[in-house]
This record gives sequence, structure tokens and C-alpha cells, in this order.
Amino acid sequence: MSGTRRKTKTVQVGQVRIGSEAPVAVQSMTNTDTADAMATVAQVVQLAKAGSELVRITVNSEEAAKEVAYIREKLDAMGCDVPLVGDFHFNGHKLLERFPDCAEALAKFRINPGNVGKGKKRDIQYGSMIEFACKYDKPVRIGVNWGSLDQDLLARMMDENAGLAQPKEPQQIMREAVVESAIQSAQKAIEWGLPEDKIILSCKMSQVQDLISVYQDLAARCDFPLHLGLTEAGMGSKGIVASSAALAVLLQQGIGDTIRISLTPEPGGDRTREVIVAQEILQTMGLRSFTPLVISCPGCGRTTSTYFQQLAQDIQSYIRHQMPEWRGLYPGVENMNVAVMGCVVNGPGESKHANIGISLPGTGERPVAPVYVDGEKTVTLKGDAIAADFQKIIDEYVSTRYGAGA
Ligand code: SF4
Repeated sequence: MSGTRRKTKTVQVGQVRIGSEAPVAVQSMTNTDTADAMATVAQVVQLAKAGSELVRITVNSEEAAKEVAYIREKLDAMGCDVPLVGDFHFNGHKLLERFPDCAEALAKFRINPGNVGKGKKRDIQYGSMIEFACKYDKPVRIGVNWGSLDQDLLARMMDENAGLAQPKEPQQIMREAVVESAIQSAQKAIEWGLPEDKIILSCKMSQVQDLISVYQDLAARCDFPLHLGLTEAGMGSKGIVASSAALAVLLQQGIGDTIRISLTPEPGGDRTREVIVAQEILQTMGLRSFTPLVISCPGCGRTTSTYFQQLAQDIQSYIRHQMPEWRGLYPGVENMNVAVMGCVVNGPGESKHANIGISLPGTGERPVAPVYVDGEKTVTLKGDAIAADFQKIIDEYVSTRYGAGA
């Protein structure tokens, strides 16, 4: 059983509610140049279709800021209403002043207080961005990143620690400084007029244990909704495993209101992977359902052909491909389970527990594949068309079980 969700304020970001009463939301970020409006529109649509509920775009230059309202307009015209989050850094105050239509078009600003200016300029520029958030009635994610942590604050805390009779480890002070920076930045924003229900906090770390410790601390010290993500998680399985390990611990403790998986895509790789991984973390933990799950066995010496692996992969891709359409037509379909099993040892048992299951023939078994629907054996498939026939059975099941009038 998952832990009780931490109680937080609720923040409205466009049409998405964020906070303890709302489901944990999936966020992603584009890697297109925002100044290239059409490439950015195309990627936002792709991410939203994959299930991203908020999409962040970088607003790093005048050329980028100039395009934001146009990007919003194009998305609306295409029927894509996903809220856009603008990522601002040291020149954000100037861009928000110069491009009011950019400020209007965004549903949320993301501000990294450690990266908005140096020395005396920091508070002035950060304060100016907060003023724009108040003026345009926008929520803000105050996003501290350990890589761009406020160095003055860190130095001060390190000095104070050095003066203690029993100084703590520098790593511990760094964690505390990250949390302190987020809390102090939120307090300043409130002093400058930003309502408390317009604030989301994040403290991105790149190490799993640091992230867990920092968020546990942050959760204990405030009731703002928290955005979770392991920053610079890395590529492929390393990035997925590290993100899952960190986020699973926190989500299990009821901590986390939006999540993003910061995967480095393979060259030319699909950006939507980060959305799918985020959904799979939430779904496999039983926190939300997004798409039917395909359960498949790992295979072993009892099934030497790759046929069942291919079938499991084809069915998973088919279901994902159908989901944008199924989501609207067949409410509840995201809870369906499909089992694709490699032989008779666990095949029938696992198949009976799924909504639909198929047990393929292992080595030396009769070349037949019994299919189970809601626990009952309904048909035995054989011949060259097993895959196509099984897909047809899934289609029929989806429309009868989840269609109108079901
Ligand atoms: S179901 Fe059969 S093929 Fe799959 S892992 Fe179990 S014994 Fe091996």
C-alpha cells in the first residue's frame, strides 16, 4: 500500500490542478529551440499526445520570448490545450517586461532563484519576475537546482557549520542549503505579494540519496506542492533506474505532486520516452492509470523462439498507438491488463488473472495458444495469424467492455 499523500495547498496551472487533492501530474520539457516555433509546436503536441499534462519550454532569449504567444495560438488552433510552462533564468525579468504576450500565454513561470543574477542584482531581478507573476496572475515553480545553488547562502551556511563544536559533513550542509534556498525564496515571493497558492517548489539533485533526503526535509518544512525530478538522470536504463529509485521512495511516502523524468535522449531518440517512463512509474506503483499494461514473462529455456517477445512488444506498441483514440472512446480502458506468456508453466495462470491473456507454446509444446478472457478460456489460436487474431480479440474486448453502453 502506498503512503498517505502529503497534504498541500492546491495550485491551478491552466486547467490542471496540482496538489494533494489532485492526481500526481506528469510534466515534460521540450528540447527544441523555442525560437523555432513550428518545431516547438510539433514537439509539444507529441509530448501532450503521449500524455504529458504540462509542458515546459525554455524562454532564454528575445527570439524565444517573441514566439511564445504564437506557439500557444498554434497549439490552441490544433486543439492542444496543454499548459505551457516558461523556463526563465538570468534575463527572465527583461523578457517578461519586453514581451507581455509571452507572459500572458504561459500558464506558469519556472524560476531558478540561484540563476537569476549575481550579488545585489539577484533579489532585484528575482523580485521583478515575481512582480510579473503577480501582475499576470500566474503560478510560479521556484526551482532550486543544486548545480546552480545560491553560492552566498551556501558559503554562509558552510561558515556557520565550521564554527560548530561538531561540524556536520559538507554534503549535509549542501543538502540543507538547497532546502533553505527554496524556503527562503518562497518566503520572499510571498512578501512581494505572490499568493501562497501560486507556489510550487522543487529542489533538483542529481544523486538519488541527496534527492530523497532533500525532499523529505522540504516536505516537513512547508505545505507547498512539490515537483519531483532527479536532474541530469542520464541516458537509457541508468536514467530510468535512478529516477525510478528516487521517485518511488518519495511517492511511496506521499511526497510529490508533479513529476518529470530528466532523461538524456539517445541521439535522434524520441523525447516522449520521458513521459512514458513517468507514467509507468506512477502506474506500476498503483498511483494512477494511463495505458493498459502488458504483463509478459521474461522467457527462459522453455521457450527458445523470439515469437512471444515479438508478440509482447507488438501488443504493447499497438495499445500505446491506440490510446489517444481509446482514451476518449473507452473510459476505463487504461486499467486493462493483457498477459503475453511464453509457455504452459505460468502462461494459463497469469493469463487467467489478466483481462485478456495468451499462453504461447513453449519448446516441444503443441503449437497452439489458448486465450483467456476475464479468467475463462475462450479460444485456442493456431497457425500463422496468432498475432493478428489476438489483436482482434483485444479490439473486440475493448469496445464491448469499455464502449458506450458497456
Ligand atoms: S512462462 Fe514459461 S517461458 Fe515464460 S518464464 Fe515461465 S517457464 Fe519460462
